[in-house]
Amino acid sequence: MAKRDYYEVLGVQRNASVDDIKKAYRKLAMKHHPDRNPGDKTAEEKFKEVGEAYAVLSDDTKRAQYDRFGHIGPQMAGGPGGFGFDFGMEGFDPFDLFRSVFGGFGGDIFGRQSSRSRQRSVRRGEDITIELALTLEEIADGTTKKVKVRYMKPCETCRGSGSRDGRVDVCPRCNGSGEVRHTTDSFFGRVVNVTTCGLCNGEGRIAKDPCPTCSGQGLTRDEKLISINVPAGVANGNYLRMSREGNAAPRDGLPGDIIVQFTERLHELFTRHNDDVLYEMEISFPQAVLGTMVEVPTLRSSERLSIPAGTPPGKLFRLKGKGISHLNMPGRGDQIVRVTIYVPKKITARERRLLEELEGSESMKTDNDKPFFHKVKDLFV
Ligand SMILES: [Zn+2]
Ligand SMILES: [Zn+2]
Repeated sequence: MAKRDYYEVLGVQRNASVDDIKKAYRKLAMKHHPDRNPGDKTAEEKFKEVGEAYAVLSDDTKRAQYDRFGHIGPQMAGGPGGFGFDFGMEGFDPFDLFRSVFGGFGGDIFGRQSSRSRQRSVRRGEDITIELALTLEEIADGTTKKVKVRYMKPCETCRGSGSRDGRVDVCPRCNGSGEVRHTTDSFFGRVVNVTTCGLCNGEGRIAKDPCPTCSGQGLTRDEKLISINVPAGVANGNYLRMSREGNAAPRDGLPGDIIVQFTERLHELFTRHNDDVLYEMEISFPQAVLGTMVEVPTLRSSERLSIPAGTPPGKLFRLKGKGISHLNMPGRGDQIVRVTIYVPKKITARERRLLEELEGSESMKTDNDKPFFHKVKDLFV
């Protein structure tokens, strides 16, 4: 599902102050809180969306990152996935956020039990995280990768119900709430502790006669081949979310997502600097002095490069547009070629004679060959 712009979600300007953002969040979170809109799925989605927007925009670092990169294109990733930077939203709980902002204990501000909202929320299957290592060549122009994924799918024997005869009953321990409440009296007064029901794992429902295939889980293991569209220009830390491709949830729950985390393999020739790639090229001393034409390997093939006479080591040459495609933008980075001079360790007798002859000649002299006295004088003039 494509994500809406966080500023748009909160209805604030891009330059809104932290206070404005908080005010907007408080207003919208109150409006869409599931306790106020029982059974309204849209409100629940909105409540979550607003929470996520606030979580990112109220954090300076995350906000700066978001301002720079945004969610970055579900539109460009193609398939049913959102593509973006990881704002650390894994396991994000909009209810926890709500409680921390409103400072309530137990989220009881509507005069009802907070557990109501959880009881109504749809069970969601677990997300699957895949790490996908890519070569610079694959990153340069994007690619499609096929990956085998182990996941949980609804059990075919019981059609995901977990029950042999298809009957699912209300859990006797928690009476369907999915939660068990323990009340203790203490010095501070009555303390209510709410924990997830262990008998039904918080589902509130349980199969009395469990399905033999899945032992009442409603799920079985399987493998599938998925096709991942890798956008051009991704870097370490970028991820792709494939909605509803993850583990199924038992009974009528929704499947989780697959989250593909991209990592970059080291390249034996190139090092990446943003969207530029650096290539270190050795030339010989005579080539550096006389100039030459060289063939330079690139990410896509190779290029001819003219090295002019008198090229010093460390000199940089730029091959325009031969680097990595920009992420979600037209254009590409460059390839930068840095020249180093090859110094042989072993030479023949003839080479030695030639070099010795050169060594004393006038144009081979370095600053260091000048008399020490002159150098000191130069410094203090
Ligand atoms: Zn089953
Ligand atoms: Zn239960």
